[in-house]
Amino acid sequence: MKAVAVVPGTRAVKLIEQEVPRAVAPNHVQLRMLDVGVCGTDREICAFQYGTPPDGSEHLVIGHESLGEVVEVGPAVSRLKRGDLVVPMVRRPCPHDHCAACRAGRQDFCFTGDFSERGIKSLHGFMTEFVVDDERYMHVVPASLRDVAILVEPLTIAEKALIQVDQVQQRLPWACAFQPGKPRQTCHRAVVIGAGPVGLLGAMALAARGFETSVYSREPKPNPKADLVASIGARYFSAQDTSVEQLAEQVGNVDLVYEATGASAIAFQMMKVIGTNGVFVFTGVPGRKAAIEVDTDAIMRNLVLKNQVVFGSVNAGAEAFEAAIRDVALFQEHWPAAVRALITGRYPVEAYRDLLVGPAQGIKNVLSFA
Ligand code: BGC
Repeated sequence: MKAVAVVPGTRAVKLIEQEVPRAVAPNHVQLRMLDVGVCGTDREICAFQYGTPPDGSEHLVIGHESLGEVVEVGPAVSRLKRGDLVVPMVRRPCPHDHCAACRAGRQDFCFTGDFSERGIKSLHGFMTEFVVDDERYMHVVPASLRDVAILVEPLTIAEKALIQVDQVQQRLPWACAFQPGKPRQTCHRAVVIGAGPVGLLGAMALAARGFETSVYSREPKPNPKADLVASIGARYFSAQDTSVEQLAEQVGNVDLVYEATGASAIAFQMMKVIGTNGVFVFTGVPGRKAAIEVDTDAIMRNLVLKNQVVFGSVNAGAEAFEAAIRDVALFQEHWPAAVRALITGRYPVEAYRDLLVGPAQGIKNVLSFA
């Protein structure tokens, strides 16, 4: 079977032939991969800035955003059956007894750093025809989501962040007045930095919860991403003609900033305009660039005098996967055209090179094995 792999030693990105893995362990399943998404992390791995092959292997099979179909189940598998569609989780626990997070099934909060991630760190990924994995990491998606379930994994980033925002904001009276038939967060305003897949999916998650949502991105209007943002009832602002201060003036009290670019300069500028009792969530992973100047006094003064919280969030636990599956279904119901527009194209595996090392294009590109 074919798989897309990077070989750090020779800096090659190539299609390799591998043996089809069999579900031998009783609690394992064999998946036929249907869709595998390409994201910024994959492109960084293919530029050899990130990513670690498994111990003893010279190559790493990449791919972590995926949708598979169960084709074989081990004898002890109880939750899954042949034909089920599943989205596998990415991160796997570290082996240490003292890691309370991993021992509690929350490897997304691993304390030791010895976790592994399929297709990223120390485990082969999903950009291949067949995969064998433990049933416990599989999340079943309804067949009606076949064409859009590839968005589940990138959406888990927003879902995990929003679960934490809810927890963090329990520090104060934050609930909006109940309005029958309306989502919960109608009194809050959110700003999303970045209009890539993580940003746009985050904007959808926020808009679906009732947040008055604004997306702040580089490209000037009009552009297809701005149209998509408008179609979900959110506003689009371009950094080219709107400063962060002007943005904040238009938004009002910025209750939440969801950062989804990995561009630290713009993120730290935005930090100056977080509102009273606001929360700022980082999800991007910046590459190393030259140091920049940041107005630390303004940021620190606001953090204290306005009771603000800044936190970072990586990866996702099981509850975020379940929430993402529910939300993809909801988005599909509310905004089918916008959801379709997120998926730029589906390509055969042979197109891997253009998507992984060619110029970045579109929103979400998908390699289709089906
Ligand atoms: C993946 C996460 C992973 C993170 C850091 C992201 O692209 O979606 O699962 O934890 O990269 O490796």
